[in-house]
Amino acid sequence: MRIGIIGAGQLGQMLGFAASDLGVECVFLDPSDQPPAAACGDVIQKPFDDPAALAELAATCDVVTYEFENVPVEALHRIENDVPVYPPASALQHSQDRLAEKQLFEQLGIPLPGYRVVDTRADIEAAIDELGLPIVIKTRRLGYDGKGQFVIRDRSDIDGAWRAIGGNALIAEQWVPFDFEVSCIGARNLDGEVAIYPLSHNVHEGGILRTSRSPVDAPALAENAEGYVRTMLEHLDYVGTLALELFVCGEKLLANEFAPRVHNSGHWSIEGSKTSQFENHLRAILNRPLGSTESVGHAGMANLIGSIPARARTIDDTYLHDYGKSPRPGRKLGHITVIRDTTSARDEILDSVHRTVTQSTV
Ligand code: AMP
Repeated sequence: MRIGIIGAGQLGQMLGFAASDLGVECVFLDPSDQPPAAACGDVIQKPFDDPAALAELAATCDVVTYEFENVPVEALHRIENDVPVYPPASALQHSQDRLAEKQLFEQLGIPLPGYRVVDTRADIEAAIDELGLPIVIKTRRLGYDGKGQFVIRDRSDIDGAWRAIGGNALIAEQWVPFDFEVSCIGARNLDGEVAIYPLSHNVHEGGILRTSRSPVDAPALAENAEGYVRTMLEHLDYVGTLALELFVCGEKLLANEFAPRVHNSGHWSIEGSKTSQFENHLRAILNRPLGSTESVGHAGMANLIGSIPARARTIDDTYLHDYGKSPRPGRKLGHITVIRDTTSARDEILDSVHRTVTQSTV
């Protein structure tokens, strides 16, 4: 059994390690030199849409998947008649355009923040008239980790926002005064079996995920989020793992975005769940029964961003994952997972790990 994976970053690496535990071989397609997933499989070093490389994946693999959402949809269309490709291209297409994504949420009855399409500077003025302030202007395409976003708190910010990202296809979104952020990760296999993970409570700084904690003691929220993920998986006839990010406002959830792939906020599942999100993604696309998503203790994860300080490697009873990437400001280089018996013990060690890795990188 051989799986082709488009993209060979850290998500590819973690998929590759999970595949090797299942006795499955992986081959990756990625233009970069020595990407993280080179640690666990051959890499075809070509652009994601290279026709010959895609044909090679189709000819030599039993199934093809992808590990990031900026893979050109055409690359999937090019090979999907020759080899099964999961998750389906329609899911990728919706996730690549914030407008299409929001329209999907609306269609499925999943609540979301108010938004408007922005094509001109005047559209920003109109969006403020209708949605109020603050609002956040986002590029519809190619935004990640808070990139391509601009918060407008006052009308005098409009010029700066327009200078920064005007001219792109944009949306304006209400700024949500959320209590906290959660994500809900689910997997569905070819037979339609669904498995959903407990919620993760996620903290972002500067648009980048810093910490995740799971499970979250909020059964009503978990039930709602699970319902939304199930609806999405079924509507998209989805195969693989999907992550839905949500804002929590009191008892209400508002969908922010979804990713048609394994997700940073589920990295804790490697040690913190009976079956990791990576293994369940592989089980789903190989049409094997999904593994249990039951938690093993209380898990926490802190991202290692920009550099991996020496002290991060010496903290007792933690799991350090070093993706083998070269340091660069803002770059995700690894993560540390902690598992404890209680929420308070987990929070104490995770807060200390987070302080250690952040203070050392400032
Ligand atoms: P995104 O790339 O859209 O997921 O945004 C990254 C992070 O920025 C989110 O996880 C939030 O922490 C914050 N953010 C984005 N949009 C909003 C919003 N409309 N209201 C409040 N915070 C937001």
